Amino acid sequence: MKLTLKLMAVIVAGIIGLTVLNAYLTVRREVRLFDSDMERDAQVLGRSMRNLIEELWQVSGEERALAIIDGVNGDGHVIKMRWVWLDAQADGKHKPAIPLADLAPVVQGKELSIKKPKAGDAGFRYTYVPVHTGSSRPGALELWESLVELSQYTGSTIRRAVVLSGGIILLGGVTALAFGLLFVGRPLRQLSEKAVRVGTGDFSGPLHLPGRDELSGLASTINTMCDQLVESHKQIISESEARIAALEQLRHADRLKTVGRLASGIAHELGTPLNVVGGRATMIAGGKLTDAEVVENARIIKSQSDRMATIIRQLLDFARARSQQRERIDLRTIASQTVDLLTSLARKRNVNLVNDPAADPIWATIDSGQILQVLTNLVMNATQAMHHAGNVTVSTAYATATPPDQQEPAESEYVCLRVTDEGEGIAPDSIRQVFEPFFTTKDVGEGTGLGLSIAYGIIREHGGWIDVQSEVGKGSCFSVYLPREANACDRESS
Ligand code: ADP
Repeated sequence: MKLTLKLMAVIVAGIIGLTVLNAYLTVRREVRLFDSDMERDAQVLGRSMRNLIEELWQVSGEERALAIIDGVNGDGHVIKMRWVWLDAQADGKHKPAIPLADLAPVVQGKELSIKKPKAGDAGFRYTYVPVHTGSSRPGALELWESLVELSQYTGSTIRRAVVLSGGIILLGGVTALAFGLLFVGRPLRQLSEKAVRVGTGDFSGPLHLPGRDELSGLASTINTMCDQLVESHKQIISESEARIAALEQLRHADRLKTVGRLASGIAHELGTPLNVVGGRATMIAGGKLTDAEVVENARIIKSQSDRMATIIRQLLDFARARSQQRERIDLRTIASQTVDLLTSLARKRNVNLVNDPAADPIWATIDSGQILQVLTNLVMNATQAMHHAGNVTVSTAYATATPPDQQEPAESEYVCLRVTDEGEGIAPDSIRQVFEPFFTTKDVGEGTGLGLSIAYGIIREHGGWIDVQSEVGKGSCFSVYLPREANACDRESS
């Protein structure tokens, strides 16, 4: 709209300029024509009178000639006339209206026409026609005419020019505005509305601008661009769906790898309750027990089979592929699930798995299955790094930390899951590589090098990061930072 107005302003300014110039030149020409007509009329009259007066002066003398001149001025005459002497002796009646100094050309025999404005009046035009009387005294006919008519004519010509110019400007302006809005303003508005829709991701509704000008060309280019964007959009969606599916498969494969490792520990874990169940069942089958003892043995069998069911359910829960869904959960629950799942495996390696939960709930909105996978991975790595008996500690807490790769580092509050071991530690030159895919220091069949890179991806998706501190021979500490919920404190206290 602004562009249309600018264009219109330029066009209207052009129309105004040309119209005003035309009006000015027209008025000036007309006034000049009128003025020169007045001058010519006076000269023609003066010349014809001169011939008559010269002859009369010769034949009938000065008195008769002057009487004729005086008699010429009637009431209705526009041009008046009188005799003037062009010397210093001229008395009041025959003294020229214009100072003698200005009348030198007339004394030399030339005609002269001069305008003499008067204060508060239009003034007069004086025309001098030299007359040869035969005497040595220079004399002339002085003709004069009021300039009122000229000024009235000038006024009416200006008024006419102003009205005409105003009309042309108005008509030109309105026409230019109407055409501007129709051919520039409206298409531009449609184009900008379309651009806004494209900006919000709405590629529908192609733009149809009639004609073959640049704007309709631009509209069809935008339509083509939208079609291409729709295509690319579809392609991006299908590619990212494929990528997500591949990533999910990779994560699931990593989970199954962990399940495989857990299986031996689980089998060992199931051995004890199975023995108890078998022994108690044999005792009942012997038929030598009192009713109370049968009841007691049945209760023990029930509790042991519950324990076995829990162990198997935990393993199946961990292995199950599920769609991503986030929920608000106390991270201490995830930590204790991990410890439960891995205790038997750790025990096989003489490692004591310690759960060190915070006193209060540590709330976070997370995909619990994914975070369980991350924590399991960290604890398994920690357990495998222990070549002697010792502790692996899983702790949960709120922590103040600075996110890595931040433009302006600023500390803030996060929730933190920490796995600390007393294992072999990581060499300083390997510490940056541990999150790279396929980086492993374990034997073939033992490690794939994918666990930490998958864990890092999961935590990044949650808006957090994993930090690692390690000292060779002393152990490592992996800290998982996740965004702390806004007003978490209020919720905790509620
Ligand atoms: P994988 O366990 O299959 O090797 P990961 O990505 O989980 O793959 O680990 C990559 C490497 O990081 C491991 O091979 C190991 O060298 C190192 N690493 C990870 N956790 C620890 C730890 N707690 N202590 C020592 N080294 C570790």
